[in-house]
Amino acid sequence: MDSVSASRIVLFPFMSKGHIIPFLQLARLLLHRGITVTIFTTPANSPFIRHSLADTDASVVDLPFPQNVPGLPAGVESTDRLPSMSLFLPLVNATKLIQPDFEHALQNLSGVSCLVSDGFLGWTQKSAEKLGIPRLVLFGMSNYSATVSRVVVLDRPHVDLDSDDEPFEVPSFEWIKLTRNDFESPFKDPEPKGPLFEFIIEQGIATSKSQGLVVNSFYELEPLFLEYWNREFDPKAWCVGPLCMAEPPRVEPLMKPIWVQWLDTKLAEGGTVIYVAFGSQAEISSEQLQEIAIGLEKSEVNFLWVVRSKGLEALEGFEERVKGRGVVVKEWVEQREILDHESVIGFMSHCGWNSVLESICACVPILAWPMMAEQHLNARMVAEELGVGLRILAESGSVRGFVKWENIEKMVRELMEGGKGKEVRKKVKEIGEAARRAMEEGGSS
Ligand code: UDP
Repeated sequence: MDSVSASRIVLFPFMSKGHIIPFLQLARLLLHRGITVTIFTTPANSPFIRHSLADTDASVVDLPFPQNVPGLPAGVESTDRLPSMSLFLPLVNATKLIQPDFEHALQNLSGVSCLVSDGFLGWTQKSAEKLGIPRLVLFGMSNYSATVSRVVVLDRPHVDLDSDDEPFEVPSFEWIKLTRNDFESPFKDPEPKGPLFEFIIEQGIATSKSQGLVVNSFYELEPLFLEYWNREFDPKAWCVGPLCMAEPPRVEPLMKPIWVQWLDTKLAEGGTVIYVAFGSQAEISSEQLQEIAIGLEKSEVNFLWVVRSKGLEALEGFEERVKGRGVVVKEWVEQREILDHESVIGFMSHCGWNSVLESICACVPILAWPMMAEQHLNARMVAEELGVGLRILAESGSVRGFVKWENIEKMVRELMEGGKGKEVRKKVKEIGEAARRAMEEGGSS
């Protein structure tokens, strides 16, 4: 215990909310064990981190973010502030220029026993090696998604198919049927190449040279995928989650946000609510926003919709029409507070991994509508592997493409009132309980 209490762990998340949040939760977990925690970040991301950890002893080091990066607007240091996600590569590649400052700051810290680096900051591997500090990697993905994508990239069962919607079996996991549309480029491409592919390979190499993977998940959720990874691939993965459970119970603020007050009212009336949100960085067309609005309106269920996409003018007049039954929020919300609210019994979600875990921990079933990254795999996992949610599909049956309001209305009703909704609600309660046990003293995580 002495060696643990003397040690310092440095955490370095990538600059996006979906990456920073699990790192902040990991920080709490480590602090709770008596470990000294230092978080590295950049000036524009620092206030969010400092505010979130204000009640803890964690220290935060700001490293200057590179200036005048071609393509990046000045002052933009995180994905949620990018004008478009097509600028992801310039942003992530710019972080490489932080390396000299990073090494200098790391050298100046005493007693560093380990670095937990974001998987997207592969360049930290060379620094860690140079300074003789073990590096663990946190990607913020499930074992299911990490394992299945690795198997597909290596075995290429998706290459000789007629269309992006034709199902194929995943080798070693034959019950899983995927389509090329479950992957983004370059993973879906028969001959992957280009800068994004090179970036992914670089991160893969850096990860394999590291001492381990820290996974925001728990053993009981996906034992087959964790065991497969640890048998076939490197480095070894350790489940330490769900990390959202490391956060302290929320203290009720004196002034609750107006949307939480609205949820209180719905609860007092005996009403139930579906929470609709697509994470911190989804890009949704104004046509699709409008279709979601019509679907929600026609479904006649109560809803709380958090939407910060461009094209909000598509919703003009909508709020007035659904007054009393629906609320549209355009600000940052405390998602866990909403999911934990007793009135919320369904979550229409893009299936970002944090959102999936938060929903499971709140025992709220998911209406899965993935948008990008590995969210399509998470959605498969939610609906087909775990049975804690239902799926929204395009009219063609494809996992990508425009979704008509009729389908949105039907699936919202099914989740909130239907027989299948009942089944997944029962299942998510069981798995939510298992999550709680995994994080208890002596639990698997
Ligand atoms: N989140 C939040 N308030 C918001 C939007 C997002 O608290 O208004 C949190 C959400 O609870 C989750 C994270 O931001 O912890 C988003 O991560 P996720 O993996 O779900 O999706 P991403 O934003 O990375 O696509």
